[in-house]
Amino acid sequence: MTILKADAVSAGYHDHPVVHEFTLSVEPGQMTAILGPNGAGKTTTLLTLAGVLKPLAGSVQMYGKTAPKSLHARAREGLAFISETRSVFMELTTLENLKVGQCDVARALDIFPELRPLMSKPAGLLSGGEQQMVTLVRALTRNPKILLIDELSLGLAPKVVERLLDEVRRAADESKIAVVLVEQHINQALSRVDEAVVLRRGRVSLRGQASELRNQKGRIQAAYLSH
Ligand code: ATP
Repeated sequence: MTILKADAVSAGYHDHPVVHEFTLSVEPGQMTAILGPNGAGKTTTLLTLAGVLKPLAGSVQMYGKTAPKSLHARAREGLAFISETRSVFMELTTLENLKVGQCDVARALDIFPELRPLMSKPAGLLSGGEQQMVTLVRALTRNPKILLIDELSLGLAPKVVERLLDEVRRAADESKIAVVLVEQHINQALSRVDEAVVLRRGRVSLRGQASELRNQKGRIQAAYLSH
């Protein structure tokens, strides 16, 4: 069953497309990575899947029907979106941040026990990785059916990137969440996702099973270098 589908989507800004004829189908429990160099159109694609940007052509479908127009309406139907901008409230404590997100705190601590000793600390004093754990767990405890993640691990150490992506993989497997993530850490992403698409200048230049793409690093690098 396809839970999220982009059908020949073109998207961009002020009627000027920067993503062309993007097609993607995602099933429950399936993780897809969108890879590609800076400016390739990854964020634009994700914003369009989320309902923040309206497609200039083509369509986005959820559960086999035309997706509701706005991010809020898509959220009501089970889509969660973690944007590139850090979304924790720096002056609130970790616990307050979780409560603002109406998060099941006990479940959050099951997912990331690392947060337990940090509950009364202002989130601004947490490490980047700990802040992203708060962000991720807030999304996961809302029980989304579809989770879109834009560069969760930007600027984080490799071990932390792995910790976060492992937890996304576990959520996809256990709760059958369909995940689409934009990631700069190609190797870490390809060892956890099922499929990947590589964007180059707004077009899909390569797509396939992650297991196959792991053996085609040269082709992926070519998409980055020929940018
Ligand atoms: P990065 O890894 O740098 O975030 P990206 O692959 O996510 O890159 P996008 O952010 O989607 O790429 O940008 C694709 C193109 O759209 C770029 O040429 C960029 O300059 C342009 N663009 C992005 N945001 C806007 C905007 N708000 N208004 C106009 N053009 C934009």
